[in-house]
Amino acid sequence: MNPTKTSTEYPTKTSTEVYGNYVGNKRTTASSQATFDDENPARKGSVLASFQSSSPRDITDAVDVAADAFLRWRRTSVDERQQLGARFIQLLREKQEDLAVIVAKENGKTLREARAEVQSAVMEGTYHVYQASRFCGHTLPAGTTGCTGWVQYHPVGVVGIISPWNFPVNVMCRKTLPALVTGNTVVFKPATFTPWSAIFMTQLFEEAGFPEGVFNCVTGLGSSVGNALVDDPRVRAISFTGSTEIGKKIQERVAKNLTRTQLELGGKNALIIMNDAGLNAAVEAAMTAGFACAGQWCTSTSRILLQKEIHDRFLDMLAARCEQMVVGDPLDENTAMGPVAGPDQYRSISRAIDQAKAEGSRMVTGGPATGELGERGYFIRPTLFADVTPEMSVFREEIFGPVLAISTFDTLDQALQLANDSCYALSSAIFTRDIDAAQKYIAQIEAGLAHVNIHTGFKLPALPFGGWKESGFGLPENSQTGLEFFVDRKAVYIKSSL
Ligand code: NAD
Repeated sequence: MNPTKTSTEYPTKTSTEVYGNYVGNKRTTASSQATFDDENPARKGSVLASFQSSSPRDITDAVDVAADAFLRWRRTSVDERQQLGARFIQLLREKQEDLAVIVAKENGKTLREARAEVQSAVMEGTYHVYQASRFCGHTLPAGTTGCTGWVQYHPVGVVGIISPWNFPVNVMCRKTLPALVTGNTVVFKPATFTPWSAIFMTQLFEEAGFPEGVFNCVTGLGSSVGNALVDDPRVRAISFTGSTEIGKKIQERVAKNLTRTQLELGGKNALIIMNDAGLNAAVEAAMTAGFACAGQWCTSTSRILLQKEIHDRFLDMLAARCEQMVVGDPLDENTAMGPVAGPDQYRSISRAIDQAKAEGSRMVTGGPATGELGERGYFIRPTLFADVTPEMSVFREEIFGPVLAISTFDTLDQALQLANDSCYALSSAIFTRDIDAAQKYIAQIEAGLAHVNIHTGFKLPALPFGGWKESGFGLPENSQTGLEFFVDRKAVYIKSSL
């Protein structure tokens, strides 16, 4: 077996090297010595590198280290933590291209999309790091009872962070930076499909100067190390992004220790297009939010609701754009859409496409790639289903791939009823020129994000990012709540003894 990689060289080349976990600022091997391979989804059967297949014991060791580091880290000043956070962000910026290549190789998203992901991580991370001093300095004015009162924020302790493979850089930063700047220590478990970008970022934390044990990363299977992290009573908060199914399981498990959770989960996001909409802009929104990252985006558009009059014209325009879309190698700058993230994703999306056909919806274009492209990697072309009705699985279930379900409506009330007819409630959008229709949509849509004439994937760091219903639980990420999740509050009352 290759030795555990300990050098500071950045792993940007295709390799078969073995990378260690990162615990206490050291590269460590899993106690079982087992490893797993990271595959490039654009090249079936390839091995980018191997990573530690850790066990619950490795999580216990990482939590030991993080709990010990917390005793010192919580006493550091916010200013000191901000400086380290800012240095990490600067390194992220400098290493953007290396990181984007890794993400493109292990996740399959295009280089352009991977660069955008790193930029988004920089933007959101900057927000959290600079907000921290304002947030932690929050003091209430004196009361009228002769005493002064204020709220003091305290870090909760060791925090477990569990991320999905679809935004391996951005989701990690959006959770980890607010956790660290508020004084917590972190044990991070990246998704099994995307360990490389995580291990690459451990190097940036080390270079930024974070003290020993403050940030730790343990790779491995969710069912093993994920569960161990959730079960450890010393882990006082779990911030998880992933499927609703796993989010519910985590919520059941944490009940034992009353561990607080922040769960960012699945979606089935609707884009409503009214007769008066600017159709070119609406098509653009459907393409961007429907097919960026091969549709593997929690806020991607997956249902399009069309007012009847524009149905045929819109569908023709959208189908033409889908058929022109260049699907291929994510490292080629001309590629508009890469493969889906791996064999499991490919199988589950292909199954959903077959089921949609069997249930009677009409496949206008798309499906799994055939020929040389299909043999080479896990490619699925942009896929449109028309004549979709609410009882069909393509309308109800999160497919998490480049598949759009298209339904029609007569009135805005019907559109809102269709959009809200889902157990998910993450993002949404409407395209219209009618301000009254826009206002009604904003008031009545059930979703954590509501967009007017903007695609469903758009977000800004100063606004909360989280879903309603089965799309999320706990305080949303970003905005003030993104920091608040990681603190305990103490109400302090003080009166002079004179
Ligand atoms: P997933 O739920 O399969 O896995 C997410 C993470 O949980 C991974 O790191 C996995 O290893 C880990 N895990 C698996 N089983 C576990 C267990 N029993 N205990 C603890 N951890 C466990 O999700 P995925 O396939 O990686 O990501 C796709 C899903 O993520 C989609 O449903 C998507 O909508 C959702 N997502 C949501 C958001 C959001 O902000 N709402 C953002 C991105 C992705």
